[in-house]
Amino acid sequence: MTVREIVVGDHPALRRKARKIVKVTPEIRKLIEDLIETMRDAPGVGLAAPQVAANERLIVVEYGEEPDEPAETAEPIKKKLYVVLNPEIAWASEETVVGTEGCLSVPGWLGDVSRYEAITVKGLNREGHKITIKVEGWLARIFQHEIDHLDGILYTAKLVSPDTLRRVVEGQEEAGDFRAEAIG
Ligand code: ZN
Repeated sequence: MTVREIVVGDHPALRRKARKIVKVTPEIRKLIEDLIETMRDAPGVGLAAPQVAANERLIVVEYGEEPDEPAETAEPIKKKLYVVLNPEIAWASEETVVGTEGCLSVPGWLGDVSRYEAITVKGLNREGHKITIKVEGWLARIFQHEIDHLDGILYTAKLVSPDTLRRVVEGQEEAGDFRAEAIG
């Protein structure tokens, strides 16, 4: 596995519609492994193929809910890895929720985006078999952020208001239950 370079800013790979995967070739298998490695190295909770300048409809997501209990007593966080080829949102909840997102391809910035609270994603797994995944909450947000990358859409194009876009201040914790992280 290889950690690939994550492209940022105005890179054209971030602005185009990626192409559908018709066959799980050895190159696609290598790309899947590299995407997982690159996501973990960043680290991020998700990554889309265009972010490593690969023009394929492929996303990886790895996320586990934080435990509510103190770290000493809680079970270790069990992260789940998702690999989805040609992901599509097949169903979305009426309820939407505003949350703060960052992106590995837009380093140093955060902004507020409205997303569906829950979605069903259809696509193929890494063997090329059809899968359906129902996700909600922060995990649903990650999937929507990553699927947007496949259509050349960055979260900065979907802000609830342009003035929610703000610089990440190193070492400064946000107050309350405010939650912000670079998604992928
Ligand atoms: Zn992103």
